[in-house]
Amino acid sequence: MYKRVAKNEMMDVFYQRSKEHGLKITPQRTAIYQELLKSKDHPSADIIYKRIVKKIPNISFDTVNRTLLTFTRIGIIHIVEGYGQAKRYDPDIDIHHHFRCIQCNNIIDFHNKSYDNIAVPEEINKQFTVIHKKVVLEGLCNKCRRP
Ligand SMILES: [Zn+2]
Ligand SMILES: [Zn+2]
Repeated sequence: MYKRVAKNEMMDVFYQRSKEHGLKITPQRTAIYQELLKSKDHPSADIIYKRIVKKIPNISFDTVNRTLLTFTRIGIIHIVEGYGQAKRYDPDIDIHHHFRCIQCNNIIDFHNKSYDNIAVPEEINKQFTVIHKKVVLEGLCNKCRRP
């Protein structure tokens, strides 16, 4: 298995990237990032808002939404493919892959070295600049799979 980036190192990345991009580190931004770091479920802005409002009652959905987009822009979180639904956010910016349940829409992280090393097709490299490679497997999760 891989060595994962520890949570406290992730906070360092947060502080460092924010500084690099001239983003002020406010208690609200810190709280949103910490909330996301704790999430293993690739939550949508709406779900993060519902969690964060319990701690910061006067925060608005708009602030949460804009903050998540800002975090994405400075590269400290990623957007997971939305499949036409609400954007889902991922605090894990290390290379990893996703299993997505087509029934409950749960998104589960997994690691696989051979997937990491998949080559980008020549014609794609000619036309586009590939920044991330992610393999998405789709199917039924444990909860949704019928015996
Ligand atoms: Zn499921
Ligand atoms: Zn993920």
